[in-house]
Amino acid sequence: MTQVRRNTTRNGKKRAVLFGVVCFILVLLVLPISQWISYAMQITCGLDGTDGEGTYYWTCVSYDDGSDGWPYYGGGDGGDPYYSNQEKIARAVADARAILQRGGACATFFKDGYDSTDGMVNALDSLGEKLASQDLSSNENDVGIKQWGAETSVTYAPNGTQYRLFDNAVVNNNGPFFSAFYPGSSTVRPRIGSTSAYAAGSRQAQALMMLHELAHLIRKSGGGDYLIPGDGDDPDQSKTNTNTIDAACHDDINAVAH
Ligand SMILES: [Zn+2]
Repeated sequence: MTQVRRNTTRNGKKRAVLFGVVCFILVLLVLPISQWISYAMQITCGLDGTDGEGTYYWTCVSYDDGSDGWPYYGGGDGGDPYYSNQEKIARAVADARAILQRGGACATFFKDGYDSTDGMVNALDSLGEKLASQDLSSNENDVGIKQWGAETSVTYAPNGTQYRLFDNAVVNNNGPFFSAFYPGSSTVRPRIGSTSAYAAGSRQAQALMMLHELAHLIRKSGGGDYLIPGDGDDPDQSKTNTNTIDAACHDDINAVAH
């Protein structure tokens, strides 16, 4: 009797295990594969990524929808994870170029008395050719883009726009240009801009950072100063400069970079 009961118990356990396996396989079959990737990525990122309709995304790339004080997490700009860092740089240059060429308040700020934006676009494209995605030191995780080294002065012949180029121009792989989060962390970075409108890592923030760097290069039409003051090793001045650019370019960034 004891023996029979033991066998029965053993069979019951087998059935339970089998039932569990069948259920697991059924769940695997029913859930779309993308959702499984989604769940896996959420664990990796440590975040519950949802869009406004509750759909799970499967990356931790952030973008800003401009509507509230919190970034959304997801492939917000249509497949962002498929862009390499260098491609994101090229896209930010293209967005900044479109912003300058659309002739809004931002273009007026950058023209600063020059008769066209052609010289600014020339400076931007020269900057774009130099910019490379690289790791900066771990105490520079708040630095999006950094330019340093020897300067070369350039005059754009058609309208005399003067600008400079630095020997080194780097977009920090671990900085706010590429990610809303600090490296290896689920801590969200501060938002960027005069109204904190843009999540770090968003396309708008990338365009804003690109324009900020460009403003360091272009000399005012009257000669002398550059469009914004130098801010190396001065985070407060850097923020002030970003706010200056955002104030001039906010509407144009919203119109182009999304
Ligand atoms: Zn700066």
